[in-house]
Amino acid sequence: MLDAAHHIWQECLTIIRDNVDKRSYKTWFEPIKPLRLEETPNDRTLTIQVPSRFYYEWLEEHYASLLRKTVTKVMGPSSRLIYDILMERDRPEEKSRHIRLPAKPAGRVTNPPIHQRPYPHGLQQQANLQQSSVPPQTGTGGGTTPHTPHPVNPPPNLSSPFVIPGIRSPKVDSQLNGNYTFDRFIEGDCNRLARSAAWAIAERPSETSFNPFLVYGGVGLGKTHLIQAIGNYAKQHQKIDSILYISSERFTNEFVQSIQYNRVSEFSLFYRQIDLLIVDDIQFFGKKEKTQEEFFHIFNALHQAGKQIILSADRPPKDIVGIEERLLSRFQWGLTADVQPPDLETRIAILQRKAEDDGIQISYDIIEFIAHNITSNIRELEGALIRLLAHSTLRREEIDLSFAKEVLKDLIKEVKVSLGIEEILQIVSHYFQIPEDQVRAKTRKQEVVQARQVAMYFAKQFTKHSLKTIGLHFGGRDHSTVIHGIQSVEGYMETDPKFADTIREIQHKIKIQSRS
Ligand code: ADP
Ligand code: MG
Repeated sequence: MLDAAHHIWQECLTIIRDNVDKRSYKTWFEPIKPLRLEETPNDRTLTIQVPSRFYYEWLEEHYASLLRKTVTKVMGPSSRLIYDILMERDRPEEKSRHIRLPAKPAGRVTNPPIHQRPYPHGLQQQANLQQSSVPPQTGTGGGTTPHTPHPVNPPPNLSSPFVIPGIRSPKVDSQLNGNYTFDRFIEGDCNRLARSAAWAIAERPSETSFNPFLVYGGVGLGKTHLIQAIGNYAKQHQKIDSILYISSERFTNEFVQSIQYNRVSEFSLFYRQIDLLIVDDIQFFGKKEKTQEEFFHIFNALHQAGKQIILSADRPPKDIVGIEERLLSRFQWGLTADVQPPDLETRIAILQRKAEDDGIQISYDIIEFIAHNITSNIRELEGALIRLLAHSTLRREEIDLSFAKEVLKDLIKEVKVSLGIEEILQIVSHYFQIPEDQVRAKTRKQEVVQARQVAMYFAKQFTKHSLKTIGLHFGGRDHSTVIHGIQSVEGYMETDPKFADTIREIQHKIKIQSRS
C-alpha cells in the first residue's frame, strides 16, 4: 500500500504546491511522508507521517482547509487523513515513538490548540494562553479512529511566537560585528565550499537545504568571520526580524544564570523567537548536558519552524567530545563544510586586502615575506601586519624588508622543509669545524660523534626523510643508530645548558638558511 499512498500523496502535493508559497511548501509539506493507504468499500484513509506534534499542529492550524479540500479532491468525498507523528523532539526519556492522530474535522480549526508545554517553565506564564487538551478523536470524514494520542505527556507546544496572540517579538540586538562581511572575506580553495554555501544562505535564509549550516576548522581560519557575514548580509538585505549571533560559551553562561535567577522560561522563549540563529564554537557545549538539552529543544523548535540555524566548531562534528548523539546528528542535517589553512596566494590576497583596509603602505615583497613565513593561521597573518604598523608608528620608520624581518622575527617560527640532509650536514660541519666526510665516516672520536648526532637530530627535525634514509646519508648507519643519536642530543640538551645553547644557535642558522 506504500506505493498507492505515495502515488496519492504526490497527487495531493501537486495541488498543494499550487496553493502555498514555495517556502511554506518546503518547510511544511516536503518533510511529510505518506505511510499507507487503507481502502474499504466505503472510505479511503491516507496516513501521513509528520516529524513532530508541532508539525501536526501547524498543519492543522494553517492548512487544514487546504488539506481537506485536496484530500477530498484526490481521494473522493468519504476519505480521511491520519497523522502519524514521529515524536522525536520529546524529552529524552520519552525516546522516539509514533503516535497517530486523526485530522480534525474541517471547520474546527480556527482556534489552534495551544497545549501546555512539557517544560517546567511553560509559556503560559507569558500570556493568557488558551489551553486545550489533545485534539478531538474524530477524523476528517467524521469517523472515529482506532488510535488515540498519548494522553500522559501533553504535546510540546512551542515555540512559535507567531501563534501567541498578543506577544510581539521584542527587538533583538544581533550582537554582530559589522566588520565581518562577505566583502572582506577572501575566497580561496581553502574555504570555497563554506563561502559559497554561506553566500547562498545569506541570500535565501531558511530556503536552502543548508539548515543547519555547520562550518568547522582550526582556529583563526575565518569561521567566525564567515558565519557573521551571513548575519550581516541578511540583516541588511533580507526582511528578517530577529538575528542573533552568540558564542556557545555565552549561551551556556546565560543559561546557567537563567537557572540561578529562575528565568529559564524567559531564556527559552527568547531563543525561540529568533529567525536566524548563529551559534559559534559549539564544541564548547561538550559535556554540558543541561545546556545541550536546552539547546536541543531550541534547535528543534527553530528548525521545525523553518528558521535558519548556523553553527561553527573547531573540529568535525564526529570529533567533538561530550555532545549527545541526537544533537550531533541534528548538527549534520543540513550542510557541513570545512575551512582549511589558506594557500600562499590566498594568504597574499588576504594580507593585501587587510593592508588596504587599514591604510597600511606596504610593499609587495614584505607581504610575500609574511605570507611565506606565516602559514597556518589567518589571525596570525593579521597579527603580523598590525605589529608592523604599530612598530613603524612608534619608531617613525618606513616599513622595509629588513625592518619587517626584525619586527616579526619571533612570530616567524615556522621553517619550510626546503633543506635537504646534505645542507644540514654542511651547516653542522661548518659550525663544528669538522670536515663533512669525517662526520659521515665511521670515526668514533667524541667530537665527531657528537657533530654527527647533532646533524641527524636536525635532519629528523627539518626534513621529512625516514630514519632509514637519514642513516644512509651518514655512512650507511641503520635506523636504530639514528634514534640513538637523536636521543643523545635530547638528553644532553636537558642536562647541559651550554650544549642546549649550541643547539639553538645551530637551529637558528638552519632557519635562516632555509628562508634564503
Ligand atoms: P576562527 O573563528 O576560525 O577562529 P576568525 O573568523 O576569527 O577565525 O578569523 C580570524 C581573523 O582572520 C579575523 O580577523 C578574520 O577577519 C580574518 N579572516 C579569516 N578568514 C579570512 C578570509 N578568508 N579573508 C579575510 N579575512 C579573514
Ligand atoms: Mg571563531
